[in-house]
Amino acid sequence: MSRVARTDFEEYGLSRGPFPVSGRLLLLTVDFEAFAPEMLPLWLDAMHYWATCAAQSRLHFCFFLAAEDAIRVLASGKKASRDFLAAMRRFDDAGSLFYPHNHFVFDPATGGKRLVAQEPANPPSNYRKRKSLFYDAVYRHGLDLGDWLTTIRTTHQMLLADAGCRIPRWPAFRAGGWDYGSTRQDVERYLDALRSAGFAIDSSACAGVFETATWRVGSVFGSNAFMCRRDVIEVAPCWVDDCGLDGQRLLTLRRLMALRRHGRVWTGAPGVLVVVFHFDHLFHLGTGGARRYFAVTDAARVAERIRRTCRFFSAVRHLLRLESGTFESLRARSAWPMTPPAPGAPGVGDGSGPVGGDPAIQPARSAAERR
Ligand SMILES: [Zn+2]
Repeated sequence: MSRVARTDFEEYGLSRGPFPVSGRLLLLTVDFEAFAPEMLPLWLDAMHYWATCAAQSRLHFCFFLAAEDAIRVLASGKKASRDFLAAMRRFDDAGSLFYPHNHFVFDPATGGKRLVAQEPANPPSNYRKRKSLFYDAVYRHGLDLGDWLTTIRTTHQMLLADAGCRIPRWPAFRAGGWDYGSTRQDVERYLDALRSAGFAIDSSACAGVFETATWRVGSVFGSNAFMCRRDVIEVAPCWVDDCGLDGQRLLTLRRLMALRRHGRVWTGAPGVLVVVFHFDHLFHLGTGGARRYFAVTDAARVAERIRRTCRFFSAVRHLLRLESGTFESLRARSAWPMTPPAPGAPGVGDGSGPVGGDPAIQPARSAAERR
């Protein structure tokens, strides 16, 4: 059933070959974005409940936290800020880690989107992606992408410090809107920018043209981890799941069908199964064009969706003999071919921590230490 899917990185000749992994890892990644301060109570309940279920089922999650959204919550008031940071800490206590994610250029003080007086005079024609991170930073704002990603990384580390969460030693990034540029030159520029901002891993690769039948996120298990230009390691998603669906049987069937695409995961072959969730899906109703955003306001219904998701992926882990981990776990599962980001760079550990399980990460400096 598996077919070798080529992502843009490979199509453009920017892949330098497979990234070998010795074990079988399950990376459950959650795009953590689109939250609005006014729906914070329900959102916070869901965070706490997700952390409880993760701990009970011994699943680790990698949260790709949209810096702009988190800052908007923190700027919305003292109580909101305190409660949100405490809920982040619950995830950390449960063995999950936060990685940065970003969709557009924003004001680091408020999280508000930075607007431009006018759209670019000569926009790129036939842009293949949703116009999100790359388009906004590079084409709309004319920023040096490496500088902007450095700002994102620093902002993210400050958020983790304020929450008392650990900072991953091997920084991973996911481009908002899966937008790392459209052309080969764009993607080269993206990889260079990641490296110069100190990122070791990317998890954004997709293929085709957005909003056409050719569009596809990620790759198949066994082909989705590869080295790229500038020693950036691509660990592409395998499967975008919808944690906002109800209906036990149908949902289980859908998930099994999705898993069936990844033929090699059933054979015991080594590799990294990367699943993508969107936390905000917990609060939506319906799918596709019929989707009603944030229409679910019943905490019990949200809790059931979380419970069902954790139960299913816990079963998958047992059935397929996968180890639930984070991007940190890759280090122990591979002959790591690159040097860590420079020691002494903000938030980077000294490499002496334990490896293997997961918490090979330094604690973030507290806000008081930073000031
Ligand atoms: Zn996103």
